Amino acid sequence: MNILLLAEHRQNRLAAHFPRLLTAARQIGGPITVLVAGEACLEVAYAAAQFSGVTELLLAEHASQKEGVAENLCALLLRLAPEFTHFIAPATPFGRHILPRLAASLQATTLTEIIGVIDATTFIRPIHAGNAHCTLRLRPAFTAHPLCLTVRPTSFAPTPTQTQPAPIQKIDGKAESDLSRWIDQAPRQEERPHLNSAQVVIAGGGGMEKAGNFDLITEAAHRLGAAVGATRTAVDAGLAASTQQIGQTGQIIAPKIYIAAGISGAIQHLAGIKDAKTIFAINNDPHAPIHTIADFSLTADLFTALPEILQELDRLQKE
Ligand code: FAD
Repeated sequence: MNILLLAEHRQNRLAAHFPRLLTAARQIGGPITVLVAGEACLEVAYAAAQFSGVTELLLAEHASQKEGVAENLCALLLRLAPEFTHFIAPATPFGRHILPRLAASLQATTLTEIIGVIDATTFIRPIHAGNAHCTLRLRPAFTAHPLCLTVRPTSFAPTPTQTQPAPIQKIDGKAESDLSRWIDQAPRQEERPHLNSAQVVIAGGGGMEKAGNFDLITEAAHRLGAAVGATRTAVDAGLAASTQQIGQTGQIIAPKIYIAAGISGAIQHLAGIKDAKTIFAINNDPHAPIHTIADFSLTADLFTALPEILQELDRLQKE
């Protein structure tokens, strides 16, 4: 058994979920090699090598890996592939883009959205929009193939750092594919924390009714230092961006506090907030399903309740 863990990074910073992903790899067992691919990303490699359980770090630096183009990264992974039995990537847009491509090229067995590891061939993943967990054990015929896994980092505790960092080995990162070419990117100026890493998230749903009303959520997020999320209904109505959608077909989040305003609590939405520690809901319908799963729920008109809550927060801050 030999594991290759693909490290996600952005703007020369290791993704915050890395220590959680590493825990999943450690639970599988066997040596863990971490691949950091990019251009001028030695700092990322140093950061990843600090964590307990990393046996070795491969640093693949080349201009062709700068933007994380999936075809180029996959070509690099294919060169390394013969040495490994397990390939692990986060269940994020980055990992979901690369792992299936690698799995198809390797004719590997693939399991996605892993939330639990029993052993090297037995894994837990959610099914039915997260309403049930399925334990899958690979048959011997499948274990003869490499295994590609995308892992939900929020389901695992973070691995601590180690006193002796893992050795870093530089390898040739050049791997170019003529299938696609990076042209440009226009990064948005982020004023607020990311949905995936925010401690507090406030989200609006169909109850927001029209675009201008969503400003109330944005205002509340601003005051609370929270990230802004939305339901599919709010996204479909043009009240929020699709990147803000939380749920089965959106982002999976794990904040300490989740505030749901004007959200019914459909199972597809709940699939995205299962790991939220404390859920606070405001909904004017006492029978809305969100009330049954919320830790604190308020049956009230959000347009009255939310401004009152913000006023009270202001008052408490001034005291
Ligand atoms: P609604 O169901 O319209 O609920 C609005 C709520 O606001 C109601 O409960 C109402 O009582 C309350 N309300 C109205 N006015 C006020 C007010 N003034 N004050 C307080 N409360 C008020 N949905 C997602 O969110 N994420 C997904 O990823 C997702 N994926 C899906 C995938 C599939 C395959 C399918 C079929 C559906 C998916 N959906 C998803 C849609 C999901 O089924 C629901 O339709 C959606 O989550 C409902 O959003 P909502 O609760 O905002 O809207």
